[in-house]
Amino acid sequence: MGKLRLRNNGFRTSKQERKLVSIREGQRKRYCEEDHHQDLASKSVHADHSYAVTSKRFVPDISNIVHEEVLDNDGNNLTPTDDWRVGRRVVELDVIADHLQQSAIDLGLGEHQINGLLSILNIPTVSHCMIDNRIREVGDVIESVADESMEEWTEKEMTRESDGNDNVTVSVDAAWQRRGSGRSYDSLTGHCSMIGLKTGKVINYKWRSKACRICQRAEISGNIPRVHKCNKNFTGSAKAMEPDMVVDMVKESRSKGANITAIIGDEDTTTIARLRAKVDPTIVKLSDSNHMKKPIRNRLYELKNKHSTLSPKVISYIMKCFNYLIAQGKGQPKKIEENLNALSKHPFGDHSSCSTDWCRFIADPSIKYKSLPYGKPLQDKALQESLTTLFQKYILNSEKLANLGSTQSNESFNKSVAAKAPKNRFYGGSRSLAYRVAAAVAQKNTGHNCKYTVDVNVSSGLSPGLYTRKLATLRDIQARKRKAVAITTEAKLRELH
Ligand SMILES: [Zn+2]
Ligand SMILES: [Zn+2]
Repeated sequence: MGKLRLRNNGFRTSKQERKLVSIREGQRKRYCEEDHHQDLASKSVHADHSYAVTSKRFVPDISNIVHEEVLDNDGNNLTPTDDWRVGRRVVELDVIADHLQQSAIDLGLGEHQINGLLSILNIPTVSHCMIDNRIREVGDVIESVADESMEEWTEKEMTRESDGNDNVTVSVDAAWQRRGSGRSYDSLTGHCSMIGLKTGKVINYKWRSKACRICQRAEISGNIPRVHKCNKNFTGSAKAMEPDMVVDMVKESRSKGANITAIIGDEDTTTIARLRAKVDPTIVKLSDSNHMKKPIRNRLYELKNKHSTLSPKVISYIMKCFNYLIAQGKGQPKKIEENLNALSKHPFGDHSSCSTDWCRFIADPSIKYKSLPYGKPLQDKALQESLTTLFQKYILNSEKLANLGSTQSNESFNKSVAAKAPKNRFYGGSRSLAYRVAAAVAQKNTGHNCKYTVDVNVSSGLSPGLYTRKLATLRDIQARKRKAVAITTEAKLRELH
């Protein structure tokens, strides 16, 4: 794993000090002495950089420079020791051209944005045609990198130790590039991801488009479209894309050997009905935990009108306990039943049904309720009755509650696709959208952020790129730091008082 360390933070060796002195001398010469070269090259430089003449008395201060040292996973030092002296100050145009398409896909840019950026940097712009061709070249490579990574993770998903069988549970969630609010779905394109529960990686994805730019143009001009690889692969409503894609994915993954026996999805029943009809009638549907938990909060707020003691503070305490007790009884319906039974007693100071696993009052009855008003148990008997009836309904669903899944990772994947194909720009008329979804898959599967760009560079015969690798490692470190902080916060929230 990569490491990051700072050096030269105020303390230098005599060698570094000497180096700095000689650099300052070079700087002084460059900035302060008369320029004797009057050839064409320097003239054109001056035409472009006239400020260099007017502000030549200003010498940038480099004494406060801090070096960051970056090590990759194998411990190789990726920091060029003097990169800021000999680094690529002038980027050759072909290097830009080679990597342009990839950056377009990775960063969610189109031809307009790329040329805008180039023109601001005073670099010759590129034609639409050239970008299209290059995007196709690199897009195919990105798709194959994504396919390889999916095969690799499918295997890991099947072999990862769990309860001794090779059953695979996956979560599926579709997203549309343009989506009407509420019930209207007018999007021309959509994609869907299938993520393995054990590894959390994408093991299959599909995209659907109802538009093709070439066919469209031919239609407008009244011509017959030229022979082309048509981009249109779906007719029907946008809403119907999801069941279609899920059936397609499950079939395909099953044919490759992944024994998918259960899927996690939203509460929409069309998808599972279609799966049972077309693939396997025994396939199990698990509920998404957020969809199961939301109603209970609403019910508690309804009860608030009836019971004045049920303040928002008490509601959030009950919700916290509920979430914890459900998480604690994962896979064990019996335990969930016991826990829910205790939940209508524990806040009222009755610990007869509690378990020593989570209730601290059994060991020490004198402690206080940190999250309840005045640190005291609730007194309202009528409220206790209402809560008991409410939880009774959930006890009947204990089987469902014990096997909750989450489509959270699909949702985060959809965000990453949205960054590469922003909803306000339309990429659905060409294969560009497919490449962008594939890029998101490669990104999720090969590691955080831009590590996949290195793989794509290598696969398409380009140099892996020192700076590409450097940034990839840095981003990876940042992501892991964020994750570590998030886990600690979550652990803190889990404590029950
Ligand atoms: Zn077409
Ligand atoms: Zn208790």
